[in-house]
Amino acid sequence: MSDAKIKWISGPVLRARGTGFRMREAVQVGESHLLGEVIRLDGDEITVQVYEDTTGLKIGAAVYGAGRPLSIPLGPGLLGGIFDGLLRPLSGTGTPYVMPGQRPVARKIFGFVPVTRVGERLGRGAVFGLAQGGPREQPLLLPPDAEGEVVEAAAAGEYAENAPLLTLKQPDGGTRAIAMCSDWPVRAPRPVAARLPNDEPLLTGLRIVDSIFPIARGGRAAIPGGFGTGKTVLLETLARWCNADVIVYVGCGERGNEIAGVLEEFPQLEDPRTGRRLMERTVVIANTSNMPVSAREASIYTGATVAEYFRDQGLHVALMADSTSRWAEALREISGRLGELPGESAYPAYLSSRLAEFYERAARVTTLAGAEGSITLMGSVSPPSGDFSEPVTTHTKRYIRSFWALDVKRAQARFYPAIHPLQSYSEDVAVLAGWWQEQGNAQWAAWRRKFLTLLEDQARLERMARIIGKDAMPARAQLTLLCADLVNEGFLRQSAYSETDRSCSPARQIAMMKLLARFVELMEQAHAAGVRPEQVAQLPVLRQIARMSEDIPEAELERFQDLGAVLEQTFTKLREEAAANA
Ligand code: ADP
Ligand code: MG
Repeated sequence: MSDAKIKWISGPVLRARGTGFRMREAVQVGESHLLGEVIRLDGDEITVQVYEDTTGLKIGAAVYGAGRPLSIPLGPGLLGGIFDGLLRPLSGTGTPYVMPGQRPVARKIFGFVPVTRVGERLGRGAVFGLAQGGPREQPLLLPPDAEGEVVEAAAAGEYAENAPLLTLKQPDGGTRAIAMCSDWPVRAPRPVAARLPNDEPLLTGLRIVDSIFPIARGGRAAIPGGFGTGKTVLLETLARWCNADVIVYVGCGERGNEIAGVLEEFPQLEDPRTGRRLMERTVVIANTSNMPVSAREASIYTGATVAEYFRDQGLHVALMADSTSRWAEALREISGRLGELPGESAYPAYLSSRLAEFYERAARVTTLAGAEGSITLMGSVSPPSGDFSEPVTTHTKRYIRSFWALDVKRAQARFYPAIHPLQSYSEDVAVLAGWWQEQGNAQWAAWRRKFLTLLEDQARLERMARIIGKDAMPARAQLTLLCADLVNEGFLRQSAYSETDRSCSPARQIAMMKLLARFVELMEQAHAAGVRPEQVAQLPVLRQIARMSEDIPEAELERFQDLGAVLEQTFTKLREEAAANA
């Protein structure tokens, strides 16, 4: 075993002299065996990042190498759990706490149902059993680096996650014991058989996402937004309503109470699919403000590795990180202590490549066992003073495909979700239009384009209105403003707290889009027929459309057709009156 003596300590980083260490090796530090990782090798000097409070640690104390990379135990006990950045369980009561030097262990008891027998050859990532007794039955897979012939197999029964159940004779002749749970290096992506194209949407129930700036399964999105613009509420709403099987939520809060809020709220959330607790298919990784910044740095990789564990079971996983800026700040602090040359805004030069490594772990794949699974990654960014030109936002933009920019003005007006329709984008629109088309909605992309054009026109016309006054605007411009208002109020606005509207099915989204698009068409015709803006502005049907998202629930979709009929009648009458007066 390698060991070394500490010669310098600065917060969560230390330098020690000794030999035999490897880069990224896990280490134990001092008498309390604090967890750490070798982050630099330089001759006989190592630099170690310590994942625990180093107060009280002394120069001369020992550092022991574990002989393997920093790893976490992945097993059926993860589901429903709340952990720290190194996957150590947090006690749920009061201030979450982890004992110094505590290892992440997995020793919960599960019912084991074998699905293999002695003599069988198992490939990497193959299913060898089922674990029962958790919130759901979970398949047990060989780790991606294990394969061989089963030479011993435990009978069905109750076992601890870390109890050996199989003995494999590996191709190299050696044997390997396999338990329900196995360790995997935090920073190493788990291998897959193939990456698949991201050509189906992750449905979220949010209209401005699904219908305007969609995200694909296996896709990557950023949610930049200043303080209080709704990042956390948006991520929680997505966690609750998106059609992923498993949610992995990484909370990096700057203020202690923010994470306390997440830890309080998450266990309360109801799963709309089952009526039970959302936690039953969630893993929460939380960094509280009393934890060292280094644990925060590791936590997003821990989150990605946990997400890959479920993906490998053939599940669709949504991985959320709130906020990646807090993670980047941890990176900056550690880099500063190491005396590295600072880059933009004092972030280290490798900020961009680290962000890339994280976002690259999103994908839709064929697993080693031949199943389809995916990880869709959504990270919030909290730029200081809401300035999207700062480094974390700009570098993140290079690696994501959906950009949901939260706007301070919208949030202040309590217009939620505060996603700004002109600052946001999705690069997957063209591909996902194919999916909507397959569902029989060939006009989705055209409607979407039409709404965005209206909103662009609105921004331009409002500038003009500020100069010349709204009433002096040409009739055509006034009607455009009216339509844009309706798109905002009737379609984009959607309260996370509304019983009727907090989640919107694709069918309901299409019904609403169709009605709005038809309204715009009828209005253009009416304008050509000489109908004046103030006549349209007074129409009761206008108010009905503005309120349709609150008034017409999922179970009464036919009422959109009724509203459509009223719309047609209203405009027929308007045109007839205009013709009579002409
Ligand atoms: P951030 O994480 O960006 O600092 P939060 O997500 O905590 O902001 O949101 C701040 C407040 O804004 C919430 O407490 C809530 O009152 C309100 N809010 C945010 N998003 C929504 C929403 N989608 N629907 C209704 N209210 C919202
Ligand atoms: Mg927040």
